[in-house]
Amino acid sequence: MQKNELIIMYGQEWTVMTKQLLQLAGLDKMIPRADTLIGIKPNLLGQVLSSEGATTHPEVVAGLIEYLQENGFHNIVLLEGSWVGDLTEESVRYCGYDRICSRYGVPFWDMQKEPSAAVDCAGLTLNVCKRALDIEFLINVPVLKGHCQTGITCALKNMKGLIPNAEKRRFHRMGLHEPIGHLSAGLHQDFILVDSICGDLAFEDGGNPVQQDRLIAAADPVLCDSYGCRVIGIDPESVGYIRSAAQLGLGSMDLDRAMLREYSFRPGQEPDRLPPDRKPEEAAGGYRHMMQLREMAEEVDSCSACYAYLIPALDMLRRDGLLDRLDTKVCIGQGHRNKKGKLGVGNCTRLFEHTLAGCPPTENQMYEFLKEYIKTELFQE
Ligand code: SF4
Repeated sequence: MQKNELIIMYGQEWTVMTKQLLQLAGLDKMIPRADTLIGIKPNLLGQVLSSEGATTHPEVVAGLIEYLQENGFHNIVLLEGSWVGDLTEESVRYCGYDRICSRYGVPFWDMQKEPSAAVDCAGLTLNVCKRALDIEFLINVPVLKGHCQTGITCALKNMKGLIPNAEKRRFHRMGLHEPIGHLSAGLHQDFILVDSICGDLAFEDGGNPVQQDRLIAAADPVLCDSYGCRVIGIDPESVGYIRSAAQLGLGSMDLDRAMLREYSFRPGQEPDRLPPDRKPEEAAGGYRHMMQLREMAEEVDSCSACYAYLIPALDMLRRDGLLDRLDTKVCIGQGHRNKKGKLGVGNCTRLFEHTLAGCPPTENQMYEFLKEYIKTELFQE
C-alpha cells in the first residue's frame, strides 16, 4: 500500500476480516525477505479485556499471524510492555495472548524485562528497549481510543509500550507530546493495523466501549492518527504529538490528500467497496464528557495509569451525585512531589493534607477515598 492510503474495513468476523484487509493492502509485498524478523506490537496496557475497549482483540492478531504464516513468513515475535502498575505477563494471560502464542508457535518478548539503550530520536535522546531495535519489520496493532491526557491514542502513542517503565515516567515529566512525537523517529513502524472494533472513546483503560466494527490499515502513523482524530471527533491539530511527528517529517496530517478505500465485509463474499466519498462516523459523546471530568483534576506530569484511574473514579462520584460537592480539585502527578496542598491521590502527593497512598492507587481506592473525603467535609459543614 502507498503512504497516503488508508484502507478501512467494517464487519464482525475479525480474524477473517483481518486477513482480507491485509490482502487488499498487499502486506506480503512490503516485507523484504521471507526470513525477515517481524515484530507484532499489540496494545496490552493492562488486565483489561478487548471487549472493554482498551486492548487489542486477540482475534485480530490471530488473523495477522495466519496471514503472515500462510504467505511464508515464519520469523515472527509478539512484543509489548504493559503500562506502569501492571505486569505484562499478567496482561498477556488475562487477554488471551498466551493461547495465541502457543497456538501459532510465536514467542512473546516482554518489554518490561528487557534492558534499554539510548537512541537518538530526531535530536531527542530516548531510552528504548534494546530488543525492539532488533525487529526488522514492525507491525503496530494499536486500539483506536480516547486518552484522558492526550485526547487520542493510536499508532504513535502505542509505541510507548516499547520503552522501559522508568522512561514511561520520564515521558510524563517531559509533557508526553514531544517525546511521543520523537519516539517513532528512533523506532520505525512499517505497517499499522488499527483495531477500531470497540475502542473506548474517552478512557484508554476502557470500560465504555463503543462498537464500531472497524479495522484500518495504514503505512503512515501520522496520517493514521489524524484519521483516528476525525473518527473520535477531535481536531488533529490539537494533539501535540501528532503535530510534532508531522513536523519531524515522520508522516503527513493532510487528510485531504489521503486516499480512503472503505470496504464492508461479508462472510464468504468479496468485500464490498463503499462509496469513495463516505465520511467517517460522527464521534460519540465520550470525549466531551471526559473533558468535563478532567476539569476536576489538577494534573501535573501524571503517569498514564494513575490519571486513567482517577477519571473513572470521578465519574463514579458524578453518578453518585457527589462530584459537585468536591470543594477543591484533586491533585495528581509527579509535579506535586515534595509539595504541600489540600487533596491529592498517589504517592506523589504524600505531603498533602488529604492524600491517598499508592503508585498508582486503584480506581476503586480513589473512589472510596474521595467519597470519604466528601462525606467528611459535608459532615463538618
Ligand atoms: S503516584 Fe506518581 S509516580 Fe506513582 S503512578 Fe501516580 S503519578 Fe506516577
